[in-house]
Amino acid sequence: MVPRARWGAREPKGINYMQTPVPHLFIHHTAMGECSDFDSCSRMMRAIQNFHMDDRGWDDIGYNYLIGGDGRVYVGRGWNRVGAHTYGFNSVAIAFSLMGDFTRKVPSDLMLNATKQMIKCAENGNYVKTDYKLHGHRDAKCTECPGSAFYALIQKWPRFEGGPLPGYTC
Ligand SMILES: [Zn+2]
Repeated sequence: MVPRARWGAREPKGINYMQTPVPHLFIHHTAMGECSDFDSCSRMMRAIQNFHMDDRGWDDIGYNYLIGGDGRVYVGRGWNRVGAHTYGFNSVAIAFSLMGDFTRKVPSDLMLNATKQMIKCAENGNYVKTDYKLHGHRDAKCTECPGSAFYALIQKWPRFEGGPLPGYTC
């Protein structure tokens, strides 16, 4: 787990806390480049945060946690802050995003294992409700995210529920 100070995060422009446990857990991909070690993943984290804050105009990097190609978990907004990741669900969901584009290939076992460990952490830490549902971003919005290849995989994971979810927009 890489804390914000270690990857060189900027201070958020604002912070909104959310009530946990939440009923939803969303899986995303960044649809940007991949990274393979601490330095390249940290650089990627700073680029994503700049993009979200400067171009999108959000308060901070959108996701709660990101998983790098190096298998490390990089802290975004953390467990208790409202993110900017899934329209309509930001205050009732936690989002994990895997760094890369998983339209045509699935993430490495290293990344998948880190993601599964984070799901376990969310369950064990009571950050998600015991009857929570796991979704891909595309279940809430017409987006390719988290990539077709990866989406086919998470459909087999425990607690998965497909879309369209209430409020689905195109
Ligand atoms: Zn997404």
